[in-house]
Amino acid sequence: MKNGNKPINVRRPEVMEQVQADVAQYRSSLVESIIASGNVFRQGKLQISLASAFGFCDGVKRAIEIAYATCRLFPDKRIWLIGEIIHNPEVNARLDAMGLLHLPWNLSDERYAGLRSEDIVIMPAFGVSVQMREFLEAKGVQLVDSTCGNVVKVWHRVRNYARKGITSIIHGKVRHEESIATASHSRGDDGLGHFIVIFSEDDARAVADYIEGKGDRDIFLERFKDCTSPGFDPNLHLLNVGVANQTTMLKDETAKIQQMIREAVEKRDGNAERCYLFDTICGATQDRQNALYELLDKPLDAMFIVGGYNSSNTTHLAHIASLRVPTFFIKSADCLLDKEKIQCFDLVTKCEHICQLPPALMHPAMQCHIGITAGASCPDNVIEQVISRLLSLRQG
Ligand code: SF4
Repeated sequence: MKNGNKPINVRRPEVMEQVQADVAQYRSSLVESIIASGNVFRQGKLQISLASAFGFCDGVKRAIEIAYATCRLFPDKRIWLIGEIIHNPEVNARLDAMGLLHLPWNLSDERYAGLRSEDIVIMPAFGVSVQMREFLEAKGVQLVDSTCGNVVKVWHRVRNYARKGITSIIHGKVRHEESIATASHSRGDDGLGHFIVIFSEDDARAVADYIEGKGDRDIFLERFKDCTSPGFDPNLHLLNVGVANQTTMLKDETAKIQQMIREAVEKRDGNAERCYLFDTICGATQDRQNALYELLDKPLDAMFIVGGYNSSNTTHLAHIASLRVPTFFIKSADCLLDKEKIQCFDLVTKCEHICQLPPALMHPAMQCHIGITAGASCPDNVIEQVISRLLSLRQG
């Protein structure tokens, strides 16, 4: 390790007062007053109910504080951020305005070659891969680590699997930063461990079938060619398996996938001794999903999900809501175009599109009950802007 470059602590007393002032911009007096009134806001015939848990989680708050503290402590240095600190466009734009520079996730990008030892590099809340960390250490840059503790717990789990010769079955999105980092850790201390990343119940079924002896090796390898460790052989590397998941996955889906893999091992071996399960969905994700289920039990006319479109936990909230009630997944108040139209994210096409708002939402004479929640990376001030826009359009 050059420079003895252990990550530096930036949340130092001399800057924290200023950092608290920086992050206060993400608070909202309106949202706080709605929470104080039991998460319900009423105006005329409109009722807005906020989920009982929504918005910023502790891991995100910490990562944002770290980014601001780094900017405050080192105003004269080049400060690089790998990817995005979190997946929220509003927060990221404000940090960019503080002068943060960006490094892509691709180590072959020329910006990595140009890093200097006096540069600061912030690792985001999702963490970085083992290879990227080693590269940065070898470069001798000063590292600042904002990786969430819940992500680090998953890394410990998969490293432990690797030590025991257990293949990690990672339930996650193969190109999501967190899953990439977790997969790299599942190679273990010697780099010889194995992993397979599965995203859907359909993927899990294919893995379970193979475990039960029903799959074709070539077809299996072709299907998962971009989702497995180098040298992965399903005949060898699905004998001892351990399931872990990206911290922000859908709780019910993860439970089903674990069950499928466990049953497959039981069918093959007559017992589940070579199957290890560990639920690594973080508490904040679970709380937000549970709170949404509670909210959906109310008679809602529509649900607004607020957050970044590339945020995994927010996308899952939108998916849950869309199965029960007309749902609008928006990144900001600007998406409410007028009384009739809204620009929202479509989970199927993965694009923004413009759609009609139900008439009851924007007609002050009509009774309407709207539910609102937000992903773990969405600040309260954005939720306030959405509520204010809804109110002004309905009155206008
Ligand atoms: S969503 Fe969970 S894992 Fe991600 S930063 Fe928040 S607490 Fe950490």
